[in-house]
Amino acid sequence: MKSYPKLPVKNGLYLHWLKPAPGGLVRPLGGQDGMSNLKTTCLGTGDGHPSGSRAHSAFLYEFPSVTILLDCGEPVTQTLTRRGIHPDAIDHIFLSHLHSDHLGGFFMLIQGLWLRRRQKPLTVFLPEEGIKPVQQLLCSAYLFPELMPFKTEYKSWTSGQPCSLGPLTATPFNTTHLERLRESFQPQYPQQAFEAFSFTLETGDTRAAHSADIGHLNDLDPLVTKPLDLLVCELAHVEPADLFEYLAGRNIGRILFTHVAQGHWEDEVGLRQLARDTLGGMPHEFAADGTEVAL
Ligand SMILES: [Zn+2]
Repeated sequence: MKSYPKLPVKNGLYLHWLKPAPGGLVRPLGGQDGMSNLKTTCLGTGDGHPSGSRAHSAFLYEFPSVTILLDCGEPVTQTLTRRGIHPDAIDHIFLSHLHSDHLGGFFMLIQGLWLRRRQKPLTVFLPEEGIKPVQQLLCSAYLFPELMPFKTEYKSWTSGQPCSLGPLTATPFNTTHLERLRESFQPQYPQQAFEAFSFTLETGDTRAAHSADIGHLNDLDPLVTKPLDLLVCELAHVEPADLFEYLAGRNIGRILFTHVAQGHWEDEVGLRQLARDTLGGMPHEFAADGTEVAL
């Protein structure tokens, strides 16, 4: 039997994990290049189904002095590490709802921030119903708050109520993504609130919106009431033809479609053609893992 050298252990975990991966820790704090008003990186663009080619939902929104990680689909820790994102670079985590493809990587992310010695306080915004269960699961995984070299604060979303985060104003809006589940399961699970949110992200220079998961096209109404520089919009829970028609002619500088349902993703040529035909000259792209947009 082959023998392996013993590795140094601290707190039950191998110390070599503390070292950054090759190429790690290369990005400056805050991550921004100083050139753009907003850099958006699609870390995971899958549709929630298991996939060998697309990671689950995670997006990095880098404004000049505040960086948001929006959703934590797996394998977000690996993706951030590969991209050399500093453990202190993320200021706030937004969780749009509690489906596993948006939340599943959160627990490993916290373990990673502990092991890589994050120092900066972290705020996690999420649906109220998730705060206690998430804290309990972290404790069940021995990721006690007292173990962390950084403080974490959990805050709940209230639809329509803006959050001021330095130069950024983030406003959550309820979507109907979980309404059908609510109708079927709320009697059995009365403690669940079945909440899901979309967001506007505004600074003095830039207005962006992120649909996260919706249930109906009208969930997008509060995002598009004013002109947008960027809309990141899902395409798994509405029909492409309906969505393109809804968006056509609106004042949106750039559209990034993500979460594209696997069936449509496999018919990329047809989907692109339909988008071109309906959206005309509106700049739009279908995001893949790693797609970056700078405004
Ligand atoms: Zn979902």
